[in-house]
Order: sequence, then structure tokens, then C-alpha cells
Amino acid sequence: MKLFISADIEGVSGVATNVQLTKEPEYQRFRKLMTQEVNAAIEGAFEGGATEVVVADGHGNMSNILIEDLDERARLISGSNRVMCQLEGLDSSFDGIFFVGHHGREGGSERSIINHSLAGICVSEVKVNGVVCGETEINARVAGQFGVPSLLITGDDAYVAEVKETLPNVEAAIVKRGIDRFAAELLAPKRAHALIREKARIAVERAKEFEPLVIEGPITFEVEFKGTSQALMTTTIPVVEMVGPKKIRFTCPDMVTAYKLFWGCVIIAMTATNGVLSHANA
Ligand SMILES: [Zn+2]
Repeated sequence: MKLFISADIEGVSGVATNVQLTKEPEYQRFRKLMTQEVNAAIEGAFEGGATEVVVADGHGNMSNILIEDLDERARLISGSNRVMCQLEGLDSSFDGIFFVGHHGREGGSERSIINHSLAGICVSEVKVNGVVCGETEINARVAGQFGVPSLLITGDDAYVAEVKETLPNVEAAIVKRGIDRFAAELLAPKRAHALIREKARIAVERAKEFEPLVIEGPITFEVEFKGTSQALMTTTIPVVEMVGPKKIRFTCPDMVTAYKLFWGCVIIAMTATNGVLSHANA
């Protein structure tokens, strides 16, 4: 049983506010907690019958997980120049995917900790074929095209409720209760790890009961950005059209192709936020 883990940090127990993830020395504490939660998921997965685990670090610069502390049975995808973003390395050879430490979408529950959709600096809303999606809902559809079912989500209670609208049967470990975007009631890490480990084991044991989330093409993405220039600069890609001052739309034949283009648009939008050549040397 081959398992893929998409790891993020905002949904890790212990994380209640942005400053913990951006300021030193706090960030060093929280990347350690992220690594420990991922390890708890790996342990549970092997207990449940997994034989191979690949982890993709999916937060910020995508180099948060401490490789020296990673469970030695797993391999880690680290570094941010990835065509497949949070799902780099995923293919049809996998039997399931976990989303560990993930978070609610921008514009979703007001109680989900550090809610955002892929890039808080630029993305307001994402719709896939008319359905508003957060990161997990998008990634689950991409995994679906590879025939890979979503088995486990971990994060705050509001995030879990949000994702369950799309994946009602997914196993879930709720490691904190959201109060506000920057406030939470937290489980102690040891308790959170025990819970994740147990749910991960059950998720792998149940893997054959889950269906991949497959949506037939063509796939249309509508993306609302926070600023007008973020939207406009994505139209340098020919198939991307403006449908509002901050809103773009494009259609691709399938979900994987559309996901890559969406990520490309987000990369452009992030760079356009302060002027694409504002840091140029020439
Ligand atoms: Zn993140």
C-alpha cells in the first residue's frame, strides 16, 4: 500500500496565529511540531498496512519539515520549484492520500485558523466547474484523476466540517477548535499525535472503501484575486481571460492540466503583487 502525504502547517495543533509561522525563533518551534504531526501520520499509516510513504512539504517555501527528524521509513519532497505544487510526486501508483496540517479556504468559515486558498497574498476565491474549493478540495480532485482516493484530513474543526461537504466519509483528526482566524483552543501535541496516529491507521485499513473524487473534463477554473494587477498579469497566458477586474477564467481538458495552470497563474499573481520586476537588478 503506497501512501502520499500532503503536509501543511496551519492546521497543526499548536498553531493559532500567523506570527508563529513567520517570526523567528517561533517558526523553528512550529516546523518541529509540523514534522512531529507528519511522523504521527506516517506511524499510523504503517500500522494500518502502508508499505511506502512519500511526504510532500506543501507550506510556504515548501522546506519546513526537518528531514533529520523525519520517520526513516518515509521519503520527503522538499523545495518550491514544482510544476505540481503541493502534489509534486503524486501519480497513479499511489493507493491513497492524506492531508495533514491543512486549513480552511479563504472566505469559508470565519473560525478556521489562518484560512486561505493556496496563497493568502493574492487569492480570494477559487471555483472548479462552478464549485467553490479550498486547497484540499482542489487537491482531492487532482488525486482523483490519478485514481487516488483521499483517506485522511487533519486540522481544526471548521476545516474538517468544510471538507466533509465534499468528502463526507474521509477520516478526520480534529486537533484544535477554531475560535477566530488567529485564535484556537489547542490539544497538547502528545494528544494530537495520538489522535492522528489512530486515525491514520484506521484510514489505511479502510483505504479500499474510498472512491477517488473524479470529475470529468473539461475543467473550468474561475479565480478571484485580491488585486487587479494580480489578475491582469495572468492573462499573459493565452487561454486565461479576464471576467472581472480581479477575476480570471480558463478551461483545460482535465484536472491535472488545469491544476498546473492554476498554480502557474498563482505564481504570476504572487510576483505581480509588487510589480513583476520590482526586484530586478537591471
Ligand atoms: Zn500553509
